[in-house]
Amino acid sequence: MIVGVHPLAGFDKLLHYRVPEALAGTVVAGSLVRVPVLNSLRLGIVGEIGAPRDFPVEKLKSVAQVIHPFPALPPDLLELARWMAGYYACGLDSIIETMLPAAVRNGAGLKQEKLLAVVRRLTAEELAVVEKRAPQQARLYKFLAQQFRPQQKSLVLARLGLTAAVVTALGKRGVIREETRRVERVAYTDDFAHGELVASQPHEANTEQAAAVAAIGQELAGGKFGVSLLHGITGSGKTEVYLRAIAQTLQAGGGVIFLVPEVALTPQTVARLRSRLEAIAPDHRCVVWHSHLSEGERLDGWLALATGEARVVVGARSAVFAPVHNLRLIVVDEEHEPAYKQDETPRYHGRDVAVMRAKINRAVCVLGSATPSLESFANAQAGKYRLLELRERVDARKLPHIDIVDLRIEAMKQRAMPALSRKLVDAMHARLERREQTILFINRRGYSTAMLCTKCGHVEECPHCSIALTYHRADETLRCHLCGEQKNAPLRCPQCGAPEIRWRGLGTQRVEEAVRRLVPRARIERMDSDTMAKKNRFREVLAQFRAGKIDVLVGTQMIGKGLDFPNVTLVGLIDADISMHIPDFRANERTFQLLVQVAGRAGRGDRAGEVIVQTFTPQSSAIQFSRHADYAGFAETELKLRRDFHYPPYRHLIHHLFRGPNPEKLKFFAEQWAKKVEATLGSRVELRGPSPSPIEKIKDEYRWQLWYFTNSVTKTVPDLVKLRDGFNWPDDITQVLDVDPVNLV
Ligand SMILES: [Zn+2]
Ligand SMILES: [Zn+2]
Repeated sequence: MIVGVHPLAGFDKLLHYRVPEALAGTVVAGSLVRVPVLNSLRLGIVGEIGAPRDFPVEKLKSVAQVIHPFPALPPDLLELARWMAGYYACGLDSIIETMLPAAVRNGAGLKQEKLLAVVRRLTAEELAVVEKRAPQQARLYKFLAQQFRPQQKSLVLARLGLTAAVVTALGKRGVIREETRRVERVAYTDDFAHGELVASQPHEANTEQAAAVAAIGQELAGGKFGVSLLHGITGSGKTEVYLRAIAQTLQAGGGVIFLVPEVALTPQTVARLRSRLEAIAPDHRCVVWHSHLSEGERLDGWLALATGEARVVVGARSAVFAPVHNLRLIVVDEEHEPAYKQDETPRYHGRDVAVMRAKINRAVCVLGSATPSLESFANAQAGKYRLLELRERVDARKLPHIDIVDLRIEAMKQRAMPALSRKLVDAMHARLERREQTILFINRRGYSTAMLCTKCGHVEECPHCSIALTYHRADETLRCHLCGEQKNAPLRCPQCGAPEIRWRGLGTQRVEEAVRRLVPRARIERMDSDTMAKKNRFREVLAQFRAGKIDVLVGTQMIGKGLDFPNVTLVGLIDADISMHIPDFRANERTFQLLVQVAGRAGRGDRAGEVIVQTFTPQSSAIQFSRHADYAGFAETELKLRRDFHYPPYRHLIHHLFRGPNPEKLKFFAEQWAKKVEATLGSRVELRGPSPSPIEKIKDEYRWQLWYFTNSVTKTVPDLVKLRDGFNWPDDITQVLDVDPVNLV
């Protein structure tokens, strides 16, 4: 038997090996094996069974070891990896590495640990004898006798400073026993132990939920590939729909992947999902999967899924690669979240990969959101996805009232740029009186590039691209980073003539100071990446807030995701428009999503909620449509704009970044390359640029970029890659392709 192996050795090649007799029965496509590469043994994945065409078979080396008795990458994941390599223009090796947890890549097998347990209690007299004759054995016995469950041998010995000989001796007396078993590390168990979290009870499904469940159930029973877009307003009970679909899948013997954005993967969400899953499918263990797990925890989860011991996984983006057996259902919650896109190689989009994985498995994919991405919504409108809608909130409570504060007027009244409007301050005082809580959101992104007139709300836009121009401080210019349009930065607002065009926005710290000054009695906590750098701080603050020990929580979007705080009746959005001024055609969509999601945070308990939105551009469509949570209205307006400017979802966008130490050389090669692409692929690809990146220099490296617009990624990327690989790049220029980027900044 001869196999082709993808070694995990930092290069993208298929090498062939002979499988020795002794291992013949254990090797299949997807097996993790150890093979000789040059002078060392490396791990690799068996990519194919069969001999090479152009190499003498008798010269092949042999596979040295098979790591697991099951494929580490089952056939569906191998197929997915190949599709991703082609679509995202990256090496198959980088994708295989992404699919396997580090511990698996490092060759950890079935992790087994030795445990020690007491099997016979000593009487006081016996113990006295042992203490006298063998004090070390007595210490070991006394320690183990106090424990409720078997203890890990290595840890016990290290802690007591004993050697393994003591274990053997005590074992011979028949007092303790060594056991070998897989040790399980369950993430977040501490939270169950502290009883801090309340499990959510199953609800009676309302008519809309029942209809959605039935529709998904029908698809599941059909056993064919299908995608449903579950568009449900905030509080409409999407999770209940997911859970019922999951239960049905598990009962029918299928496997499930449940994806949530990393930020939403709090102990609270996990505990709630776990407890509900355990209630509806008591025989099933739910594996949790995300980047904060230790290697050991990840390995345990991976093994449980790869061996078929567990069939359901809940996790962030990379859980889409979990080796779930008989995969029938993939749920992508908050499918609009940019966090699903990985911003390093391989630059894949978790949602799009989920749809492809479902297709390969002929499984059902459910994408859910209160504010679906326009890509998914357009697919639903085109009939590619089935649209399921939840228009009622489960408890029939009204959506909170949204108040818009015009900051242009506020700035005039207060004769300065206020962080907090009068209205917001009054509302916070009222909450404090009633012992209710407030969340203040600040949208940090885009400050460095925003150029906004605080007098009239004017933003300088590119006439060709309909996105905000980027301010470059170094040479006082405004530039379009899509097409390269450039002009001098104005000293006064071109619209109203006021000098207030240099507004740079507020940070969380300034907002916190303003709250301390204006609402001095309130207990305040700030939550942003600066203050949350310490591990567990995030969870601590949320626990305090939940316990009512904090009145006002100030923070960036990170506090808004998937958290329920029943006592929060006021949500303030400090600067609703900043995200509209980032140079990204998705800026409106992001603002609309943020507003709707934030509003959904207010008043989730039995009290009504109020949302106050401060903005310089109250007339913008994102703000107007979000007031009534009018998704359909917003989507219609925004999709028209996208169509007019040929933006996604009507075309695909590919970003090409060039980096190098010499700016002139970089510019020269970027331009030469662009000419080459234009000449070769010009009929299929529209180019914009090349031009300097919005951030022109990072760590002494200059950055240029080029954009490609195309109708078909699969018809463009292979040719682009071929062209790129044949181009004469100098050694000091690196370049990166990003297909379907989600952030243009
Ligand atoms: Zn102005
Ligand atoms: Zn432009």
